[in-house]
Amino acid sequence: MNRRSVPISAVFAVLTVLAAACSPSEAPSGSTASSESATTSAASPAPSPTTGPPVATPVVADVVAAPVPVPGTDGKVHLAYELKLTNVLDQEVTLTSVAVREGDRTLLELSGDRLPYWTRIIGTPSPATKLGPAQTAIVWLDVALDKDAAMPTALLHTVGISVPKPIPPLFPATMTEVVAPVTVQTRKPVVISPPLSGPGWLDGNGCCDMGAHRMALNPIDGGLWAAERFAIDYVQLGADGLLFTGDQTKVDSYPYFGADIHAVADGPVVGAVDGLPEQVPGKSPTGLALNEYAGNHIVQDLGDGNYALYAHIKTGAVKVKPGDQLTAGQVIGSVGNTGNTDAPHLHFHVMSTPDPLRSDGLPFVFTSFTLDSRVINADALGPLLDGEQASMQPGVAKRDETKVIPMDLDVMTYETK
Ligand SMILES: [Zn+2]
Repeated sequence: MNRRSVPISAVFAVLTVLAAACSPSEAPSGSTASSESATTSAASPAPSPTTGPPVATPVVADVVAAPVPVPGTDGKVHLAYELKLTNVLDQEVTLTSVAVREGDRTLLELSGDRLPYWTRIIGTPSPATKLGPAQTAIVWLDVALDKDAAMPTALLHTVGISVPKPIPPLFPATMTEVVAPVTVQTRKPVVISPPLSGPGWLDGNGCCDMGAHRMALNPIDGGLWAAERFAIDYVQLGADGLLFTGDQTKVDSYPYFGADIHAVADGPVVGAVDGLPEQVPGKSPTGLALNEYAGNHIVQDLGDGNYALYAHIKTGAVKVKPGDQLTAGQVIGSVGNTGNTDAPHLHFHVMSTPDPLRSDGLPFVFTSFTLDSRVINADALGPLLDGEQASMQPGVAKRDETKVIPMDLDVMTYETK
């Protein structure tokens, strides 16, 4: 749950491990699970994206992972993924546009102010379009298509660039590259039930805007992992619209602290940690080891290469152990404030391996829930975190939703189990 003006310093930063936050010596051991949908191979050059003759490209590109389409509460189908661009020249390169295409059909175009909004030099927090020599940028992509539109199967990316010192004929002053062909994954989002019950559950840091989860790229074991691409930080708005009353630094001031967490589907537990202490709300913890970021947590195998993570569980409240066969709706723990968290919440996501951080984040949809309202924008979370009400988006009609993923800032009621 971040304030959008400083997206990297997330308020509910939870699992975010940015480049500056960990070193190779902190990498976990024994985590060897693989994913067919993980990062693209860097071992061999990318296939040619066009059928024409080879073209020199001063910016080389690939994607962190191929996208998996998912329908959202906004009526759109989202392809959320990341384009990685590296300047291989010994001079600065300016990005002027980035587009996602299928053949001649343009699905998304970023230029003007929208391009820096979605772009960061890796390891830095500020919007950027200039890449110094050897610098790498990430462009976070959210291709949002009408749900009745034809779904693309193969994507290309066009990247407009300019260089101050042209090197004709290879590198003219301006050029448009066609790079990073990628095949849209054919897998479907796993269908699950919500991990909580009752009214007022706010989706913090949800897909697909430039929030803490989308921007979390974890440098682990030599790879870059977008484990939290579709993650949700759940907090509960009370009937008074507040997160807490009284002392902000006490977990008991948050009425949903200790709320039941439910298994989202049938399936075995493959990881469980308990015993880590509650953090003090209102500030971010420091000095955490990599395996402490999720706090007390449970990992459940949902089948078909989908693993659910329930994180920051209350100390002593993890009710299950590896090998336990869970049934959907079963109470498995309580909302807490352990690990990398600064207010009680449930961090939930689905991923490609049992490792909370070294995974590819996968989309999911809920069988059914009620969308009640939506916080007007991320800036409105500031007052909420200060103990005041958040402004709500006008015109959001309460409605039942089926088989969609909640979107960032949605406020929902989940059927009481
Ligand atoms: Zn989170």
